[in-house]
Amino acid sequence: MSLYCYKCTNQTLSPTKLDDTLSALVCEACEGTYLDLLSYRTWLENHPAVNNANETLDSFSADELDNTDNALICQRCRKFMLKYRINNEHKNTINVCHTCDDVWLDRGEWSLLKYLNMQDKLTAVMSEPWQQQLRNQDRDQSFKKLYQQKLGTDFDKVENFATWLSDHPQKSDIQHYLSQHKP
Ligand SMILES: [Zn+2]
Ligand SMILES: [Zn+2]
Repeated sequence: MSLYCYKCTNQTLSPTKLDDTLSALVCEACEGTYLDLLSYRTWLENHPAVNNANETLDSFSADELDNTDNALICQRCRKFMLKYRINNEHKNTINVCHTCDDVWLDRGEWSLLKYLNMQDKLTAVMSEPWQQQLRNQDRDQSFKKLYQQKLGTDFDKVENFATWLSDHPQKSDIQHYLSQHKP
């Protein structure tokens, strides 16, 4: 039985390879990729450890990147797929059907994962700790932004002071002094 594109829905998918030993299906029209997670996990267990940061990264161009904002429907079970953000710098999400245990990646997203050295992190991304960490980073960013707006040009001074204070051996004395002293 042939599988239809999760995005175009009227195009059949063709066999492709994301890596020497990782088979997937691709849509010739939108260049999105279908990947079943069983194959992915087998590939993870067998492929050599991911290169470290010193190695040359694969070429990657943001122009190649596509991202579907609306919820996709799994072409196997017809349920809505869940979206998992990969990080806070990119709006790209991985579309996952937990019933069928498979993934839809839009055009360029596999290259993006490789570029970010995250090609072995696909299952980690859809875990609660990963998503929680992204929410925490988001919250920290909004908190920082709020005080940047409140304090304006003084914000950098406060940041520098906070950095200096965080490593200071008498940090708690200084904090106590600041909270108690009357100018
Ligand atoms: Zn397509
Ligand atoms: Zn499904």
